[in-house]
Amino acid sequence: MPRRLLALLPLAAVAVAAGCGGGAASERTERPRVVVTYSILGSLVTELVGEAADVTVLMPDGVDPHDWQPSAKDVEAIQSADLVAANGLDLEEGIDDALAEAERSGVPVFRAADHVDVRTVGEGETGHGEEHEGDEHGAGSPDPHIWTSPLAMRSAISALAAALAADAGIDVSGRAAQLEARLTELDGELERLLATVPEGRRQLVTGHESMGYFADRYGFVLVGAVVPGLSSQAEASAADLAELKGQIERAGATVVFTEIGTPVQVAEAIASETGAAVVELPSHSLPDDGSYFTFMRGLATAVADALAAG
Ligand SMILES: [Zn+2]
Repeated sequence: MPRRLLALLPLAAVAVAAGCGGGAASERTERPRVVVTYSILGSLVTELVGEAADVTVLMPDGVDPHDWQPSAKDVEAIQSADLVAANGLDLEEGIDDALAEAERSGVPVFRAADHVDVRTVGEGETGHGEEHEGDEHGAGSPDPHIWTSPLAMRSAISALAAALAADAGIDVSGRAAQLEARLTELDGELERLLATVPEGRRQLVTGHESMGYFADRYGFVLVGAVVPGLSSQAEASAADLAELKGQIERAGATVVFTEIGTPVQVAEAIASETGAAVVELPSHSLPDDGSYFTFMRGLATAVADALAAG
C-alpha cells in the first residue's frame, strides 16, 4: 500500500467512529460504551447494564456534583459514547454545554429527571415568606435531587432500559425488571425504618434543599436549609440565616444536617444559637461498597438515628 494511503488510515478510522457516535467501532471489537455523569446514578446504571456495555462514570465519587467541571478527557468520553446518562435539571451545572454539544453531534443523551415526577420548591420552603414570592432562591424551581427516592429512581431506570434498547441496541430488559423489583423492596424497607421517627420529630434542616423527594415520600417536613437553594453553590445572606434560626425555633427542630458543600461554620453557629445538634448527612456520595442500596439505607439510618436521638 502506498505510504500516502497508510498515513490517511488513522484519520479515516476516526471519521468513521465519529460519524456513528462510536457505534461502528464497538460493534466490531468492543462492547458499547455508556457514560454516566454522576456517581449515584452511575451505581444503578452499572447494575442495570451488567456485562452488556462498558460503563464509565465521569464524576469521582465524593465531589460536589453542583460544583464539578468536566476535563477535556470527560468531554471526549461524552462525545464518543453510545449513550450518555445524566441526572438533568441543572444538577451537573458544569457539563450542560458538553451534553448539548454531544447531542448536536448525534450522541443519545438520557436525562433521568425527564422520566420522574419532578417536584418543585414550595413557597416558604426556601426560607422565605410570601413577600419574596418567585425570588432568587427559586420557589417553583424543579428539584434535581431525584435519587433520594428509590421510587423516582425506579421510574428513571425503567425509562433508561428502554432508551438503551432504542438508542444503543443494548437489551437489559431482564436486568431492568430485577432492579426495579429491588428498588420497590428498598422503598418498603426504608418506609419501615423511618416509621420509627416520632411524628413531632419529622423535621429536616439540611445544608441545601436536597431532601425534598425523600421528605415527600416518607413524610418529613422541610423546615429550611443553611444554604437556601437547590444547589450547594447558592449563598445565604444574613437575613436568610436569621430567618432559618426563627424557623428552627418555631418548628422545634433538633438537628441541622450538613452535606457536601455546606459551610460547616455557619451550620455550627446556627445550631449553637438554637440548641440543635449538627449531624453530617451522606446525601450526595456513595458509601465504600459503591451501592445505591447501601447509600439509601445509610441516608435513611442517618436521618432516623439523628432525629430519634434529638
Ligand atoms: Zn444537592
